[in-house]
Amino acid sequence: MSTIKQSPYIIVGAGIHGLSTAYHLAQTLKACGKGTGKDIIVIDKSEIGSGASGIACGVIRNNYFQPAMRELMAHSVAVWETDPEAFSYHPVGYMQISCESMHEDVASIYNQQKAIDYKSTFIEGHRDCNNYMLNIFHDWQAQGITSVLHEESGGYANNKKSLQGLATKAEFEGVRIISGVTVTGFSRDNHGTIKSVETDVGDIHCDYVVVAPGPWAKQMWDMLEMPDTISIKNPDTGIISQDIPMWVYWSLQEGTLGVDPKLQQTNDGKMPPVIHVDTDEPLYSDADGSLITDKMWGIYYKPDFNFGGIQGGAAPFIVDKKADSVAVDPYGPESPEFIVGNDFSTMWVSALAHCQKRFSGTMAQYKNEPSGGIGAFTPDSFPVFDVFHDNCYMIADSNHGYKMIGVGKLVAEDICGQSSSLLQPFRFSRYIQGRLHPVSNSPFPWS
Ligand SMILES: Cc1cc2nc3c(=O)[nH]c(=O)nc-3n(C[C@H](O)[C@H](O)[C@H](O)COP(=O)(O)OP(=O)(O)OC[C@H]3O[C@@H](n4cnc5c(N)ncnc54)[C@H](O)[C@@H]3O)c2cc1C
Repeated sequence: MSTIKQSPYIIVGAGIHGLSTAYHLAQTLKACGKGTGKDIIVIDKSEIGSGASGIACGVIRNNYFQPAMRELMAHSVAVWETDPEAFSYHPVGYMQISCESMHEDVASIYNQQKAIDYKSTFIEGHRDCNNYMLNIFHDWQAQGITSVLHEESGGYANNKKSLQGLATKAEFEGVRIISGVTVTGFSRDNHGTIKSVETDVGDIHCDYVVVAPGPWAKQMWDMLEMPDTISIKNPDTGIISQDIPMWVYWSLQEGTLGVDPKLQQTNDGKMPPVIHVDTDEPLYSDADGSLITDKMWGIYYKPDFNFGGIQGGAAPFIVDKKADSVAVDPYGPESPEFIVGNDFSTMWVSALAHCQKRFSGTMAQYKNEPSGGIGAFTPDSFPVFDVFHDNCYMIADSNHGYKMIGVGKLVAEDICGQSSSLLQPFRFSRYIQGRLHPVSNSPFPWS
């Protein structure tokens, strides 16, 4: 590393976005005769997959209420499909199963999926939904469900294996991936353009920087001398709200039930789609019958041999602290502060049992190991993909993003002058211009 003093392109972060950008940039530079993978280095303060991408549940879906998100996800799903083996991608499909308060939103998702030719089936009404689910799982028992959106594509991928697959592809193109180098700042010329990336082992001169920092987005934002707070225009009233914090952290709740993953096979012995249920039915503890909640709740789950059981999660919660005082490191399961507790396991396993009888009585098999992690969210909880200071592309996915493997491809093309309309709705200027994404009735911040 000490010998690297210069690289035309520097990518900061070896997660899904950094690695995808590296691989696709190498290909795009070559295709347009502007360079090769040898012109790119990826640097990471730790190693490949040491951020959110390495602990993500790995769910890949198109189920988004926002048209721009849906189109972007359709593009990403197509990228996953290019090499399922290398990306360790399991195209089992995805089901959004909802109560009446979400019926209309999900119907609109279905209609718009049809419009972009994204294959899905939509079932409506109590009886038909119940029958549809019983046809897949004989023990389905969740009540109060009035819509089921079954996406044929999507599913999940194995987090670290897919990153390794991307890294291998990037290295094959000549990209160098360097671990253990921490970015500490950026040095800029009089016009504000970045001239070099400052690291704990010295400065590296560059022509272009891509930052893909995941949960460290705020730290990178600060190093780029971007504002702590921003102004946002209300698209309906035109009123501008000032001093809105740019970053807020949410704590993601995920865990694994240590049963045989095959327990979740479908009636015809196949591996099932990823299941996501949002409902306002009262949820009772599977351990002692006490009421857990009578408010809206949501869970997702899938059998996963990599995690060794049924893996999934529930709605995240906001970390009730100013972003400045949130400790991102140590990250994920290493964090003493942001791992899930008993409240999560009781709720989640009870919710599994609420949906499918086969999970009743399995609470003791919940894997009591550290899990979960935090994500850095933008003010509207949607990504910011934009260029700052002339030559710094920031990929801040607001924690939507393991599934967004295609963003790196679009960013690479954008850098090489082939701009895509798919990225336009995610520019930073949308806040002051009031071009915000519509908000759904889901209990999750990223639906
Ligand atoms: C528990 C959990 C479950 C999730 N489940 C899903 C899911 O099922 N599906 C989905 O689509 N998304 C999911 N997400 C969200 C998804 O994981 C993230 O949105 C995505 O992985 C972010 O990717 P990234 O490449 O931007 O960042 P990361 O994967 O976090 O990579 C950032 C890298 O930057 C490095 N870095 C940071 N600061 C510096 C620095 N100063 N110098 C050098 N390197 C630095 C880090 O070491 C890290 O390796 C989940 C997130 C969490 C926390």
